[in-house]
Amino acid sequence: MPVQAAQWTEFLSCPVCYNEFDENVHKPISLGCSHTVCKTCLNKLHRKACPFDQTAINTDIDVLPINFALLQLVGAQVPDHQSIKLSNLGETKHYEVAKKCAEDLVLDLKPQSGDKGVASLNQSALSHPMQRKLVTLVNCQLVEEEGRVRAT
Ligand SMILES: [Zn+2]
Ligand SMILES: [Zn+2]
Repeated sequence: MPVQAAQWTEFLSCPVCYNEFDENVHKPISLGCSHTVCKTCLNKLHRKACPFDQTAINTDIDVLPINFALLQLVGAQVPDHQSIKLSNLGETKHYEVAKKCAEDLVLDLKPQSGDKGVASLNQSALSHPMQRKLVTLVNCQLVEEEGRVRAT
């Protein structure tokens, strides 16, 4: 159904500039409040806070990792190794675990056929409320403590 497809794809583009996320100019960056905005728009913010709910962004924008799970959903090239600079080893470990979970979720979200991408998500075995829930989880910012708590 077209209406549901539209609801689905709203997760795949930046809610500020309406461009679809990609691996170059519109890298998806998820914030602690679970909003995801492209990096270009984040860099244009006058103050470091979510443009939707004014949640303060405590981490430097250049340090916030790209939401690779979302990038995978739009079919962009995802580099195998991303450098994440976290304050200590424990944090990094938490992040890796959470990131793995998010990537597993994305695999569940992807349609079995795979080749038609987003358009064929309607054929996914998952119900739409379930897809929505999973996308919400994928949108959690895993680096900031608050985001991780949300994801569990
Ligand atoms: Zn944007
Ligand atoms: Zn927000």
